[in-house]
Amino acid sequence: MNDCLFCKIIRKEIPSKPVFESGTIIAFPDINPAAEIHLLIIPKKHIGGMKDLTLNDGKMLAEIYQVANKLVSQYNLDDKLYRLVVNGGLAQHVPHIHLHLLGGKLKKTA
Ligand code: 5GP
Ligand code: ZN
Repeated sequence: MNDCLFCKIIRKEIPSKPVFESGTIIAFPDINPAAEIHLLIIPKKHIGGMKDLTLNDGKMLAEIYQVANKLVSQYNLDDKLYRLVVNGGLAQHVPHIHLHLLGGKLKKTA
């Protein structure tokens, strides 16, 4: 999608510092971390949100969780606090489906 923020990051038109990248998935730190470790794990295919998923996306979703699992180990979070979060509705600000990996304590918001 031309004017999608995450598609622009995937196309490297907006810089990010990927911590994982494959043909189908990219993961990079959130620009405004809500926890000590805050990564975004994103399919390269543009899918707006949960309502746009089909059964054909099953393999990609499994890959997303495998990448999350790999990053949990890489960041030594296995035995620590971590959360995987998908925002939707008014809580979702970027309309390109993504998984938040939040590791360690959540930062306090005002
Ligand atoms: P959402 O609210 O849609 O679930 O999450 C979108 C996330 O994208 C937010 O946590 C926000 O901080 C992050 N974000 C927005 N713009 C950028 C950007 O240009 N680069 C990076 N790395 N993260 C971004
Ligand atoms: Zn997109």
